[in-house]
Amino acid sequence: MPTADYRTYCEMIDRAKEKKFAYPAINVTSLTTANAVLKGLAESKSDGIIQVSTGGGAFASGSSVKDMALGAISIAEHVHRAAERYPICVALHTDHCQAKNLEGFVIPLIEETERRRAAGRPNLFNSHMFDGSDLPLTENLDIAVKLLDRCHKNQIILEIEVGVVGGEEDGVKGEASAKMYTTPEDMLETARRLNAVKGARYLVAATFGNVHGVYKPGQVKLKPTVLRDGQAAVEKASGKEARFALVFHGGSGSAIEEIHEAIDYGVVKMNIDTDMQYAFTRAIADHMLKHYDGVLRIDGEVGNKKAYDPRSYLGLAEGFMAERVKRAARELKSVGTTLYKG
Ligand SMILES: [Zn+2]
Repeated sequence: MPTADYRTYCEMIDRAKEKKFAYPAINVTSLTTANAVLKGLAESKSDGIIQVSTGGGAFASGSSVKDMALGAISIAEHVHRAAERYPICVALHTDHCQAKNLEGFVIPLIEETERRRAAGRPNLFNSHMFDGSDLPLTENLDIAVKLLDRCHKNQIILEIEVGVVGGEEDGVKGEASAKMYTTPEDMLETARRLNAVKGARYLVAATFGNVHGVYKPGQVKLKPTVLRDGQAAVEKASGKEARFALVFHGGSGSAIEEIHEAIDYGVVKMNIDTDMQYAFTRAIADHMLKHYDGVLRIDGEVGNKKAYDPRSYLGLAEGFMAERVKRAARELKSVGTTLYKG
């Protein structure tokens, strides 16, 4: 079906919260990776989220243009068209955007949605993330509140980050520090400030020791109870309805027990990038190693056009990545939960 509208997206989030499952939110940087997500979700009868980072957008716009907003628009336009052929609901989201990148990424994307709405067309993106985790909490929330107000006017959901995700993504390194575990006080302050924007919907990436990337076992200490304690504080202050819809960043490489525990505490969206990158490249590596005498013109030979046509290995990579998306849907318990009624 066409990409989710605001009502459908809200319903997706509410259902996940109520029935205790989460949506795979997969980073894409090209038509092929976007198609892999659609395929994997459709074969799982799971709704899900396709997301574009600042670096992914810059990449998609081409190496001589490097315009992160332009590339994100191109991918989103493709997904709007292609999603119509798949029997699931998919939402479009943009990943981490630090304050310094707002003017070059999230703001032009909101403006694009505003133009589309004025012309009676659907929103370009369903949600955007503002990542103010490198700022003091007050400044982070000052910016978030302003953005949330503008998003709300346009039926866009805003994701914010409280605490810091460790590791590295898109060249941005999170520092290992106490901020890697969001405190109940920070959660309460977040609720107090954001709930002042009446009726607005938002997602919270609270951190519980999660990191971007994949590390050897024992390197990462996840404490999902941080989410439990924060939610309990929010519920005590403002009632059950006030519990956050949480986002799990750095889902790659996480143990299934930790994923399920985090879902129990209200995670409705889990971001997976690194493991998808690996699945995609794994298929290509396999192809190149098996057919090296076909992909190369060596010893006076001419190679094998069938082996070096990029469609051959990109097609395999699409399939491998789709399988990884299916595994994510199983682990997040979203299989068979689609809201699409064919
Ligand atoms: Zn992240």
